[in-house]
Amino acid sequence: MTDIIQLLPDHVANQIAAGEVVQRPASVVKELLENAIDAAATQISLVVKDAGKTLVQVTDNGIGMSPTDARLSFERHATSKIKTADDLFNLHTKGFRGEALASIAAIAHVELKTKTSDAEVGTKITIEGSEVSSQEAAVVPKGTTIAVKNLFYNIPARRNFLKSNTVETRHIIDEFHRVALAHPQLAFTMLHNGSDVFNLPISNARQRIVNIFGSKTNEKLVPVEEETEIVRVKGFVLKPQFARKSRGEQFFFVNDRFIKSPYLHHAVGSAFEGLVKDGMHPGYFLFLDVDTKSIDINIHPTKTEIKFDDEHAIYAMLRATVKHSLGQFSIAPVLDFNKESGFDTPYAYSKKAPVAPTIEVDKDFNPFQKEAKQGHIAFPYKREKSPAWESLYVGLKQDLGHSVSGIENIEFESEEVTGRLFESDTEATGQITFQLHNKYIISPIKSGMMVIHQHLAHQRILYEELLKNITVQEAVSQQLLFPLQLHFSKPDIEIIQKIKEQLEHTGFVFQFGSDETIEISGIPVTISESQAAKVLEQLLTDIKEEVPDPGFSQNDLLAKSMAKSMAVKTGTVLNRNEQEHLVNQLFACKEPNVSPNNQPILVTFDVTDFDKKFM
Ligand code: ADP
Ligand code: MG
Repeated sequence: MTDIIQLLPDHVANQIAAGEVVQRPASVVKELLENAIDAAATQISLVVKDAGKTLVQVTDNGIGMSPTDARLSFERHATSKIKTADDLFNLHTKGFRGEALASIAAIAHVELKTKTSDAEVGTKITIEGSEVSSQEAAVVPKGTTIAVKNLFYNIPARRNFLKSNTVETRHIIDEFHRVALAHPQLAFTMLHNGSDVFNLPISNARQRIVNIFGSKTNEKLVPVEEETEIVRVKGFVLKPQFARKSRGEQFFFVNDRFIKSPYLHHAVGSAFEGLVKDGMHPGYFLFLDVDTKSIDINIHPTKTEIKFDDEHAIYAMLRATVKHSLGQFSIAPVLDFNKESGFDTPYAYSKKAPVAPTIEVDKDFNPFQKEAKQGHIAFPYKREKSPAWESLYVGLKQDLGHSVSGIENIEFESEEVTGRLFESDTEATGQITFQLHNKYIISPIKSGMMVIHQHLAHQRILYEELLKNITVQEAVSQQLLFPLQLHFSKPDIEIIQKIKEQLEHTGFVFQFGSDETIEISGIPVTISESQAAKVLEQLLTDIKEEVPDPGFSQNDLLAKSMAKSMAVKTGTVLNRNEQEHLVNQLFACKEPNVSPNNQPILVTFDVTDFDKKFM
């Protein structure tokens, strides 16, 4: 038999390596940021377009590269960071494999501009699918800019595998957080689709955390510090009352490198034992410094896992240190509702004068009648048109081949609704929305079909409305003939006292009674009497569990929480008018495609997608 083994050509080997190094745009972000840090930059800026699918660009003011190095940097196993195998056990840089740039260049269009401080002119290289398409001298500032465009352009399967822009952006921000938290002594900026996401000046660790996660984080931080022969720990844990149901801010850094360690995570968790409820996750930002010789970073290609020589000792020490720090700080809840509300006012309402809440008495209210079914949706609000979305429907009527005749007059809760996508005449010509599994609303659009998640859609509608009410102070309330008496614990009553004003802006009218009760005489028109208690209880839970979101505030939390518990649930039958009303209301929203918690509300399918299935 003849010999059949061949060496893989470089570009194929690089593409294979890329599969390990580059999973998604966020991987590129990580590699480029780390290279900038290794190049001793002090100012690093990240520019991202379309969640990194179109562009990831990092500019640094670091040492730059000579023309030869610039060309070599794209070769596999080309690195300036280690020279001998021994260096592997004494790593002080982020990179060392020399694989990142080669991998990225194999699966994207890359442009590199770089100049060292002593050179007169710099170098510009463009490279696509591992092929250098140009290299020339260029007038550029000291430092390096690497632009990575059209990631996976030559691997459609990988490109299609990428998640929605929201999800990919989340991953990018996670990577950015990790790098920026580990290096407060460096300045970072991040721009996404032309708008500023982060602008982090040089600072200390505490300020960096606060700059990233919001000013309210400051008072939640409990400092942790300890030094032993094998490890030095510094950082912060979040006070136990800010533990979250979902895993939130949990960061371990070892020698300034973000790592994941279920084992050490457990150590911190056990220090919180008895202080947080089961299933709640405490937050932490912990920086460990160990001798580089006592760890092995080389066990994972993307280097987020490491092995310690003295794992058990570090575990015990971490647990004891965190416990000790928690013991030194009081754990009484701190709520800050005094933040300037101008900051949260949505859209153009900040300058409007406040309007007192108005009360509408429900004249038809009959306390002896059974309550309206849950499926009933009330939308008593004025809406504006959303032209961008209407274009989805342009020409649809003709496409459906319906004749336009016979106008049926449908009455909605409000005459003021103006943002309708469906003319009433389409209603006479056939059904245009369908409900699937009492969960989704299906609607044909010009290019195919749209599927809307009814619960999330309603959340978005209520959220925008509530946020507007809370900040603009304009609410519609329905008066109850027989006020509701609700009992709460003392701490809960205190919270309600603090948010009384905001609650009133949403339509609640209430007074504090004796013995931890409140007497509710008016509720928002969007909820039924039986929902009122649930909405308040959920709100209290959310407030108690709140962990800051950068740039958002208590008002935002209130609106999110209430929108969630007030929104029509999955499983609720909606009649056709309700379905269409919901759709119309949704497209009158400022951001109809994502829920307040950033989940997608709708997906569209192209007719050609269906065509393919019938081939
Ligand atoms: P590694 O970081 O593992 O060495 P990379 O493929 O990420 O491998 O980079 C290859 C080489 O290119 C680096 O070792 C470094 O010499 C050079 N390089 C990459 N990015 C930069 C940068 N921003 N500034 C200066 N040199 C850089
Ligand atoms: Mg690198």
